[in-house]
Amino acid sequence: MEITRTFSATRDRYRGTVGLIPTLGFFHEGHLRLMEMLRDRCDTLVVSLFVNPTQFNDPSDFDAYPRAEGRDSALAEGVGVDILFAPGVAEVYGGISVTTVEVTGVTDEMEGRHRPGHFVGVATVVAKLFAGLQPDLAMFGRKDAQQLVVLRSMASDLRFPIEIVEAPIVREPDGLALSSRNVRLGREARESSLAISRGLYQAAEQVDAGERRGERLEETVARSMKRLDVDYVKLASIATMKPIDTLDEPAVLAVAATVGGVRLIDNVIFDWVDGQPSPDRGLLLDTRSKLAANGMITT
Ligand code: AMP
Repeated sequence: MEITRTFSATRDRYRGTVGLIPTLGFFHEGHLRLMEMLRDRCDTLVVSLFVNPTQFNDPSDFDAYPRAEGRDSALAEGVGVDILFAPGVAEVYGGISVTTVEVTGVTDEMEGRHRPGHFVGVATVVAKLFAGLQPDLAMFGRKDAQQLVVLRSMASDLRFPIEIVEAPIVREPDGLALSSRNVRLGREARESSLAISRGLYQAAEQVDAGERRGERLEETVARSMKRLDVDYVKLASIATMKPIDTLDEPAVLAVAATVGGVRLIDNVIFDWVDGQPSPDRGLLLDTRSKLAANGMITT
């Protein structure tokens, strides 16, 4: 595996079909699963590692975001990544930088409402990665469901000839969605955080049993999370990312809450199979994540 710092040096190393996974680094088993999945679909697998300052609406969150390039490069190499693209801020934003990418509509609610400016930062940096790296495929996780829809819209509107590939949410055996932020959860907060996935799974059960009322599904999740500091619990259309009252189209039940000072997001996407909603409960790891738990390489 090679580590590159510039767009052009990265492109110079391509052969065959190129797959890209944009990340903020500090890899956990969720990231590694994405890498394994895309590995099978391309000849050159590129993972970008860039803690993008413009997508953090809260400067203290940017400062606290865990960073460890040496650790990350060993993990990426272990799952067969060809190139780890780890640019400095100047490579991405240097020179005359007066252009931003704003995706409208699908950014109005949920994360867009609670993190002003976040999606402009995300769409702008991913547009730069797409233009500068020119991959054939790009993979994003369903963990960030609204981000996925925002980036699909951006890629389609700007006519990037890039296939967007979705990956399911990778979860701890007890349900907690893996996140680089989980290393900041204390023991008690880690326990409390389970209320999020538990609530989502209960709502998924209700849907399997025939419930279609959005309010009821949101109530179920909110009840489970009543001890947490909740930003939102919303049933939203996948097409528009706008709230819907009835689950009668592909949708996401999405939540954000702060636990022990750490902001977590999670969701269940309802795909549509044979005219019925089919909850995507994600991929449960067999054993507790070592990387997301303490940030050390123990594998
Ligand atoms: P991040 O480094 O958090 O920006 O994540 C990089 C990519 O990995 C994004 O497309 C995320 O949606 C995805 N991702 C992060 N955590 C998970 C997870 N637990 N399951 C699936 N995808 C994930």
